[in-house]
This record gives sequence, structure tokens and C-alpha cells, in this order.
Amino acid sequence: MKGLQSDILIAMGAGAGTRPVESAVSADDSPVKNGRRLQHAEGASRPLHSTTAREPQPRGARIRGNHRVDQTEAAARFIAAPQHEKMHDDRLWDLRTKRDGQMHAIPEWEELRALASAIKEHTLTHLDQYLDEFEQNARANGVHVHWAMDGDEHNQIVHGILRDHGAKTLIKSKSMLTEECGFRSYMARVGIEVIETDLGERIQQLDNEDPSHVVVPAVHKLRGDVAELFATHLGTDPADDNVHHLAEAQRQATRPLILDADAGMTGCNFAIAETGGITVCTNEGNADLSANVPKLHIASVGIEKVIPRLEHLAVFIRLLSRSALGSPITQYTSHIRGPRDGGEMHVVLVDNGRSARLALEKFWTSLKCIRCGACMNTCPVYRRSGGLSYGATYSGPIGLIIDPTFNRHKYSSLPFSSSLNGSCSNVCPVKINIHEQISAWRQVMAENHELTFVKKAAMKAAGVLLAHPALYRVAIATADSALNGLPRFAIYSRLNAWGKHREVPHAPRESFHSWYKRNRSAS
Ligand code: SF4
Repeated sequence: MKGLQSDILIAMGAGAGTRPVESAVSADDSPVKNGRRLQHAEGASRPLHSTTAREPQPRGARIRGNHRVDQTEAAARFIAAPQHEKMHDDRLWDLRTKRDGQMHAIPEWEELRALASAIKEHTLTHLDQYLDEFEQNARANGVHVHWAMDGDEHNQIVHGILRDHGAKTLIKSKSMLTEECGFRSYMARVGIEVIETDLGERIQQLDNEDPSHVVVPAVHKLRGDVAELFATHLGTDPADDNVHHLAEAQRQATRPLILDADAGMTGCNFAIAETGGITVCTNEGNADLSANVPKLHIASVGIEKVIPRLEHLAVFIRLLSRSALGSPITQYTSHIRGPRDGGEMHVVLVDNGRSARLALEKFWTSLKCIRCGACMNTCPVYRRSGGLSYGATYSGPIGLIIDPTFNRHKYSSLPFSSSLNGSCSNVCPVKINIHEQISAWRQVMAENHELTFVKKAAMKAAGVLLAHPALYRVAIATADSALNGLPRFAIYSRLNAWGKHREVPHAPRESFHSWYKRNRSAS
């Protein structure tokens, strides 16, 4: 699903229309209508007020070429910014709670998940067939279809189309695929101005940051961060962090750019083989503007987005927004089958590593992902460390299993940024066994010598101990008494990330094994 900036969008009411927000504003700034606070996801999200001085926004992971990303270092900086950390944790848990409410309201929820999973697995195992069918039907609808092997080819194809039309400005709705492809920076290099139309994504573009979440791209920002950003770029008052004012300022600034743009670009949530149409889900209606205002529309579509038939779409539409934001449906679910009157439409089908992922026995089902973000919202590590700490296009649990397929070394530490509690797998609407895949990636990293020195030494020692039960028992007995007398620097040091945010519990006087032997084994 394409973006919703959680804090700011409270002000957007029913999407990005041209009229000002009509609903009244309550004392706590939440939109109310006829005396009742709005109940859909945006209206019901609690605005967050800060009574203390503004805290500088923590930035994401430090990227150094192909070097291994240090997520724990960036996470530690995020945790050290308590206003941001608390807001992020609260906001995403709020979404998770709403998702649970929606789930409990649908008795057939588990059947829907099973069906969605089965449809995706069937499609992925017949992908060539359904992609061919989609291409044929899209062409019959008057759409130009292109194939891109990787991000570079995608960017070149889009650039070629724009060049042929003399286009210099492009309005664009949110697309994680274009983030994968490094699309904006490519377009900047060739002199084409790209304007993001999703509110959260536009905030991130103005701040020169990547999206930190697949659905709510600027969810890591406090309203004060946005006020300062808009003051710099839009000339607003930096002291005014009223979300309604900020959203309106952004709307007024972007609307003329949208009306004047030479071309429009959208992503795609689902590509339907049977009809050759695409479906895009947004909460702001910005994809409709991008697809319909300029005469030229280009849609970037990952090849895993195809589903066989229109009837299958209903299964995913029922799951998507409920899982993502805890709202029954996105404000806009737009079906686009061909070019607008007098216009031209292109679809670029992009592989960018997906075929290779399909061949990975333990990881191919990650291609079932519909980018709802539910696994991120529920993940305790993600909620407390912020999406940009992962230093990759995808963050949170889904990122841990996708990112290493793009660059195994660079993202080799990410599968360790999980407590393996399994909550991600439980909420996933397409039943991806996320935590098992995270665990499997850890094994792959170990086999490929991608562990850090400290982790490798610890794993080796643990391996020896666990392989020798007698030695293990002696070690445990010794460790228990040793832990009680160990100097603090031995555990709480720079070398031991475990000790950074934890206290070692008091060791019991006796192990369960020896207690059992003494009390029960004789009976
Ligand atoms: S892995 Fe599942 S829960 Fe996570 S974003 Fe994808 S579909 Fe949603």
C-alpha cells in the first residue's frame, strides 16, 4: 500500500482534495465531525504533543560503500532520542492494535490469510505464464509494456520514454520499487525533476532521506521535525507544528507542480493477468493525480505483483489495509486499465533480483509480500530503532529477509536484528514464515563467513559447550557463581552489545538439572 504519514495525515481528512479540511478541530487537535472524533485510521491515531524542548531528529545508518551496515549503532542513536523513540513505538503499536481489532471483526480472517497465501504461491510457481497473460491483455488495452532486468534498466527505460515526450517534470506516487532502483537520484543526474505526491514521501524527499517504513514513510519524524523542514523548504513558520497547517502548506505548495507536470508515475499494488489492469491503493488519492493529470502515465511494476484473476483481488484488498493501518479499506483503491483519453500509458515490468530470489529454496516465499508493513509495526526491534537504522530499502522483519538478496555482505548483520519472537509471521496476511527465514539467513551468514569476530567466537564457544553435555553442566554451574562475582566491565563493555541495554539477572543458586536430580529422579 502506498503511503500515509501517520502524524501529519491526521490533518488530511478524506484525502488530498483541493478544498480545505471541513471537519472541526478538537482541543487536542484531532479531527471531529458532528461532535464525534473520526474513527478511521487517520482520524483515530492519537496526535502526539511534546511539552519539552525539541529534540534533534536522529538520522539513519551510516552507509560506507559496500561495508557491512551497523544497524545496532544506528539503533542506539535512535534509542538515545527518547521523544522520537517513544513516539515511534507508540505510533506503530497503535497501528498494530487497530490491526488486531479489524482481524477480530472478521471471523474468516485465517481462511482469508490461507487463501491469499495459496493464490500467491500458485502465481509465483506459474509466474512466466501469468506475466505473459498480463502483457498480452495490457497491450490489448492500449498499454505499452516494457521489461527491465534490473534497476538501471528500469531507470533507462523510463528516461527514454520521458525524453521521447520532451518531459522535464514528473509527478510520482510512492513506490518502494523505485526506491530499490535508485530512481530519484538517477533522474536528478539526467536533469528531470521528480515531485513526490505522497505526503510522507514528499517530506522524506525534501529531507533527502529514504522512506523509513513501506506504508508510513516519515513515521520516524516528530511534527516539530516536519515544521522545521517545511520552514526551510516551504517558508512556513518553524514554530507552527500544527499538523493541519503543515498538511495544508504542503498541499498548496505541491498542487501547482502537479497541475503543470509533464508526466506522471505510479507504482502498483496488484497487476491482474486476466484484465491487463493494475490496482493502486492510497489514502491520499495522489496516485490518481499522478496517473490522470498529465497525459503520459508510467507505472513501475515488480514482477511479483501479478495475480491471476480479478476475483483474487478481493482477497488481498480485504487484507491489505486492515493489516497495514487497521482500517477496513484504503481511502482510494484505483483500477487503471489503460491510458486516459488522449493520453499514453506505459508499464515497466521489473525483475531486479526477483527471479534469483524465486530460485532460493528457503527464501522464495518472501516474494508473496504485499508490503503492508504489519510485520514492521509489531516488531519490537523495529519499533524502537526506526526504519532508517537498517540502512536499506526495506527495514523491519521483511527487510531482514529481502535485503540480503540484494547484497549479502552489506546486509549480513541485519538478520541478527530480531528477537525471533515470531510475531511478524503471526500478523503477516500472506503467511510468510518470516522468523524462520530470518533464522535461516543467520545460518547462511555463518556458513558464508559473514559473522563479526565477536559473534563468531561466541557461537564457536556455544557450539562446543552444547555438543558436550557434561562440559555444559560444569560450565553452567561455574558460570552461575562466576556471574555473581564478575566485574561489570566484563559484561558491559564495547565488545558486548548484549550488555548495552540489559542487566544480567541474578543467577540461581542451583540449576534446574541438579534440583531435579536431587528431588525427583529417585522417585
Ligand atoms: S512480510 Fe507480510 S507482514 Fe511484512 S510487509 Fe510483507 S505482507 Fe506485510
